Amino acid sequence: MNWKEMLDKSVVSAKELADVLGEKTDEIARVAGVYPMRINPYWLKLMKKPGDPLWRQAVPCADELSDSPLLEDPLCEEKDSPVFGLTHRYPDRVIFLVSNRCALYCRHCMRKRKVGKHQGAVTDATIEAGLAYIEQTPAVRDVIVTGGDPLLLEDAKIDAILKRLSAIPHVEMIRIHTRVPSTLPMRITEGLCAVLSQYEKLWINTHFNHPAEFTPEAEKALRLLNRTGAPLGCQTVLLKGVNDAPETMAGLMRKLTKNRVRPYYIHHGDAVKGTGHFRTSIETGLAVVNGLRGHLSGLAVPAYVIDLPGGGGKVPLLPESILARDDKSLTVKGYDGKTYTYPL
Ligand code: SF4
Repeated sequence: MNWKEMLDKSVVSAKELADVLGEKTDEIARVAGVYPMRINPYWLKLMKKPGDPLWRQAVPCADELSDSPLLEDPLCEEKDSPVFGLTHRYPDRVIFLVSNRCALYCRHCMRKRKVGKHQGAVTDATIEAGLAYIEQTPAVRDVIVTGGDPLLLEDAKIDAILKRLSAIPHVEMIRIHTRVPSTLPMRITEGLCAVLSQYEKLWINTHFNHPAEFTPEAEKALRLLNRTGAPLGCQTVLLKGVNDAPETMAGLMRKLTKNRVRPYYIHHGDAVKGTGHFRTSIETGLAVVNGLRGHLSGLAVPAYVIDLPGGGGKVPLLPESILARDDKSLTVKGYDGKTYTYPL
């Protein structure tokens, strides 16, 4: 199957999932009614048994409805949004949403409030408004093109967006954030790579969370992406029951570097409503990262970061960045020198 057929044949309802996996319908239907589900046939085949790391990332679970104290948008992306779908928080960078569809709706997604939903969807008009804002804002040097997954757009649409961004003299870096090398590697076609390889300002950041995501198909996709000349990086999310053991994380970092993908960040799970069951303790995160140091080349050890609530931005977790802590929270200094409270 090509990538479009894979998307068309995705499991999106509790009934379909019950037919394929024999899972209980009611619980999944309740959760998928709030947070959409999409499991494409490629990923479905990789899931081996209930609760395994790939299953946990894809199959809705009742825990998603039980963590109401957490917030839908703790990072306040909407607050720093001058036009719909664009966040301008740091002086020289914007986050630009060009799609709210993904090849898999990850249960841990920090944009659960948006992905796969029709309400508040990205449209041609919102993309146009974002491009116009970037063109008119000379401070923007770095554009993070994200979603949803930007690479679920048609090649011609991706080409048009990149052409427009590339032509803006003050834009020096364009970063595509995509999970398709892991979740739908057949999307990385020769045709798409021919488009991407035209743009010298382009960087590509992908998202792998477990060594089992490195199939021959995924490795082929990374090989093709490497040939475009865009530097490849990876953002991983620390997830309970998926990659919160040092040996699993070390295996993932080895796979990434073997495939010429630079591990960039390990994100501590944000305090996003619907994802609390994936969050580990900070101590677990520090132990995982300490387990990488010395055992792997420095190139294979990413920064372990928290994203501060209220728009404080990302902070690498080092003992000196933590000013105080109690049972419920950390007090952390942000990049702007202000003090933020991070919920545990
Ligand atoms: S691919 Fe990315 S944006 Fe889409 S659901 Fe997964 S984590 Fe969220």
